[in-house]
Amino acid sequence: MSRVYNFSAGPSMLPESVLNRAAEEMLDYKGSGQSVMEMSHRSKVYEEIIFSARDLFKEVMNIPDNYKVLFLQGGASTQFAAIPLNFMNGSGKADYVLSGQFSTKAYQEAQKYGDVRAVASSKTDNFSRIPDLDKSQFRPDADYFYICQNNTIFGTRFSGLPDTGDVPLVADVSSCFLSEPMDVSKYGVMYGGAQKNIAPAGLTVVIVREDLLGKARDITPTMLDYKIMADNDSMYNTPPCYPIYICKLVLEWIKTTGGLEAMRERNVNKASILYDYLDRSEMFTNPVLPRDRSIMNVTFVAKTEELNKKFCAEAEKAGFVNIKGHRSVGGMRASIYNAMPVEGVEKLVEFMADFEKANA
Ligand SMILES: *Cc1c(COP(=O)(O)O)cnc(C)c1O
Repeated sequence: MSRVYNFSAGPSMLPESVLNRAAEEMLDYKGSGQSVMEMSHRSKVYEEIIFSARDLFKEVMNIPDNYKVLFLQGGASTQFAAIPLNFMNGSGKADYVLSGQFSTKAYQEAQKYGDVRAVASSKTDNFSRIPDLDKSQFRPDADYFYICQNNTIFGTRFSGLPDTGDVPLVADVSSCFLSEPMDVSKYGVMYGGAQKNIAPAGLTVVIVREDLLGKARDITPTMLDYKIMADNDSMYNTPPCYPIYICKLVLEWIKTTGGLEAMRERNVNKASILYDYLDRSEMFTNPVLPRDRSIMNVTFVAKTEELNKKFCAEAEKAGFVNIKGHRSVGGMRASIYNAMPVEGVEKLVEFMADFEKANA
């Protein structure tokens, strides 16, 4: 068996030990005589899985008691509508920061439901930076303030959180979930699709402050109402059972390998190896304002389009797969989530340096 280094932005790599464990437990989960894929979600044996996934989430992320962890479906994109439906219920206003494609999509979706304002945008810089924020532009009576914390496509991230006062901060953390410690108490809501850093596609995790629940608009579909999901322990209907099980294994892996502090250290180290090389290289450049560089998604371009193409093709052959940039940006992108081992990044940099020499 030979496994590639997969730099996909998502679905992406999972820790090998997690995959091995899932393989061992595939046919007979802990003597139940069933695969987790086959179990009733109402069975005792499955309840133990979903509740320990929830409790591990709270433990690993150090989530305060007044927050709920929800296991939902529909991907991050479904939450673009669920957020205004659940929270745009006072003034009917919401402020958005446009820092890339996903925050722009969320902003457009929210416009269907109320008075939505873009308080900052870096579109004119092709989203190569987090826009400067001017607090005087924030509306103090907004129902919430929305950011996408790590911009998967453009390779940027908020290095600090905006000060929104009493207005709840809502953050899409799809591509930085569990990558480092986060102070959950600073957020009203954070959410993300699991396929970047947590589990296979099909699971969406929402962490929400309890006092924000129960005010959904009347038209909110039952399945998008966070309160109903919270009251039913995320089992109002059949949850994404198998991804939740893998999520539990991933959280156990994080816990036994040093928790989120250790995860941050490894991730910062991996990102530095790549950025240090990019800053030295005479062929490749990273287009992002250094302050705003993501530690999860590293974008880079070669000098010509021809070299970009050649690089992607040769990298693929050498076992570095899915390194092509998003179609809206071009060039390359190495997504180096938690499960990417440091050797994967070291070998990629070696490969890039060799490519640079051979094509100088
Ligand atoms: C991938 C991604 C999305 C879209 O996720 P889906 O689960 O495919 O809907 C949204 N936001 C961010 C930041 C992402 O990285």
